[in-house]
Amino acid sequence: MIKLVSVGVQLLGWVMIASMASAQQRAKNIILMIGDGMGTTQIFAGYTANQGKLNLQRCTSVGFHTNQSADAYVTDSGAGATAFSIGQKTFNGGIGVDATGTKLPTILEMAENKRLATGMVVSCSVTHATPASFIAHQKSRSSVEEIAAEYLNTDIDVFIGGGRKYFADRKDGRNLLDSLNQRGYQVKNSLQEIIQVKSGKLAGFIADEEPPRVSKGRGDQLLQSTQTALEILKQNRNGFFLMVEGSQIDWGSHANDGNYVAEEMVDFDKTIGAVLDFAAKDGNTLVIITADHETGGMSLVGGDMASGKVEAKFTTGHHTGVMIPVFAFGPGSSAFSGIYSNTAIFDKMMKAFRMRKN
Ligand code: MG
Ligand code: ZN
Repeated sequence: MIKLVSVGVQLLGWVMIASMASAQQRAKNIILMIGDGMGTTQIFAGYTANQGKLNLQRCTSVGFHTNQSADAYVTDSGAGATAFSIGQKTFNGGIGVDATGTKLPTILEMAENKRLATGMVVSCSVTHATPASFIAHQKSRSSVEEIAAEYLNTDIDVFIGGGRKYFADRKDGRNLLDSLNQRGYQVKNSLQEIIQVKSGKLAGFIADEEPPRVSKGRGDQLLQSTQTALEILKQNRNGFFLMVEGSQIDWGSHANDGNYVAEEMVDFDKTIGAVLDFAAKDGNTLVIITADHETGGMSLVGGDMASGKVEAKFTTGHHTGVMIPVFAFGPGSSAFSGIYSNTAIFDKMMKAFRMRKN
């Protein structure tokens, strides 16, 4: 009798585990963190520079995505981020459009339509390819003034990054900062001002064009901006979608500068730490950390864990076509283990949000 009961309990346990695995858990909030150009070597450069540890290690699921674009083996950041934002492969340079050039709604726009709060925090201009892919629909990533104007087409609650001049000093003479003001945005022009904002809508500019690299004056911008965004977005009872980009891991890799890569990786990881702290405390937040592609064909031929020194070599000044790791934490995170196409990250986020296209 006792034995039968224990078998029954054990069976119940197995059934529960099986059903948990089949139905992806729902997430109220999703934070998608993109380290541009961040392959496994960029991560390990940061790990070494940080003397053998990263916050990234707190993630509970790890998978890989393949990231070829619709027209090239090696993707760019437009097609790479568009795969995440609309779930479709597109041509290199495409922003929020599919391979035929058709504009499709992004997960940020869909979240906004479902009355979730939305935000983006980046360490490049807010019009750059990665953030643009979540809010704009353009056949070319270089249409930066058109991309800036598209910020007025959605009701995004918070966006923080560089690129103020694409809003203020435009060929068409429009002053989009005034337009943002009229739409109820608190328009702020420095980190000091940005971190004072505790609620409402925020357009935060930390640079006129591209922000400097972390060691040349950007400091804690990404961390502090992300904390400000979380503070504002968490006030929406329906939940939120936030995209955070460590934009310059890619730039360090293009420059074939191992120290630039390592310091940007450590900076991104500091922000990852704050995001994981938030998610662990909240319990309803899914965090996904990945990259659009690898940059530089980077390898480490030497290093020292104790001093944090990295000795890097690069095979190219451009991107490469290798698989990219995906790290996840929180409800729904187990769905991110395995090997899948970059577009599946969109599908998995939609499932976690219990949202359907259109
Ligand atoms: Mg980028
Ligand atoms: Zn790049």
